[in-house]
Amino acid sequence: MNPIKIVIAGPRGKMGREAVKLVEVTNHFQLVAVIDKINDGLKLSSIEGFQQKDVPIYKDPEKCFQLETPDVLIDLTTPDVGKKHTKLALQYGVRPVVGTTGFTEDELKAVQTLSEQKGLGAVIAPNFAIGAILMMKFSQMAAKYLTDVEIIEMHHDQKLDAPSGTGLKTAEMISVNRPEKRQGHPDEKETLDGARGAVYQGIPIHSVRLPGLVGHQQVMFGGDGQALTIRHDSFNRASFMSGVKLSVETVMQDNNFIYGLENIIE
Ligand code: NAP
Repeated sequence: MNPIKIVIAGPRGKMGREAVKLVEVTNHFQLVAVIDKINDGLKLSSIEGFQQKDVPIYKDPEKCFQLETPDVLIDLTTPDVGKKHTKLALQYGVRPVVGTTGFTEDELKAVQTLSEQKGLGAVIAPNFAIGAILMMKFSQMAAKYLTDVEIIEMHHDQKLDAPSGTGLKTAEMISVNRPEKRQGHPDEKETLDGARGAVYQGIPIHSVRLPGLVGHQQVMFGGDGQALTIRHDSFNRASFMSGVKLSVETVMQDNNFIYGLENIIE
């Protein structure tokens, strides 16, 4: 069987570096090029930390897709760039695996439509950590019985979007099992804007941004005389790579658009 030809966008980033390692140690994966905003035309091996990687760097994703004809794009960049890359990948017949967060509902629908038109698999996963998926699933289960809930998501202070994709996705999943209701007192007033967090279908999501953190979330449920906290911690970016691997394998076999790893893991 031929290896899966992969392009990684954002290889110098914290996630991108882990993804380069993942591809290197996976026998049936082959890195054919990277997309970066600097070092166009150079080899990745000329960049510190990548001495063994003799693949070209492209600034222009279209040129990369045309010349390298990869099977899969792994995008780990920034919200605006990731959205552009995802669309271009599908237009050029490349299956996107996107960890970049910040897609709105309309933008996700547009990716789904394009994936259907092209008959190509695509995965957008706000969180590639298997433990985080379980946290979301357990929270969805708990919301059937404990309908009072708030979410606290905590990330490093270089994160560009808030709330996190995982926080929003958790609220969406909880909403499936919880009738919409505004958490807190009906007459509560914020004396400082934002004190009660961002609200999705009545569920407050509080975003913490601090250096030293990676990706953490706790979902807090309250009931009469009791509380339940479901918490997940990613301590480093390696925690996300088993989900990236699974997603690459999935887009090669499944020609549908999948949003969220929970739709792959049963
Ligand atoms: P990061 O360290 O800032 O890496 C982002 C990389 O993208 C940087 O190297 C940046 O280059 C590069 N970049 C920016 N514009 C680009 C362009 N036009 N073409 C190619 N590369 C470009 O961030 P990170 O922590 O690795 O996270 C990357 C993304 O993954 C973020 O959206 C984050 O929210 C998301 N994330 C997802 C998961 C998940 O499980 N799904 C987990 C963690 C993070 P410069 O540094 O030169 O700007």
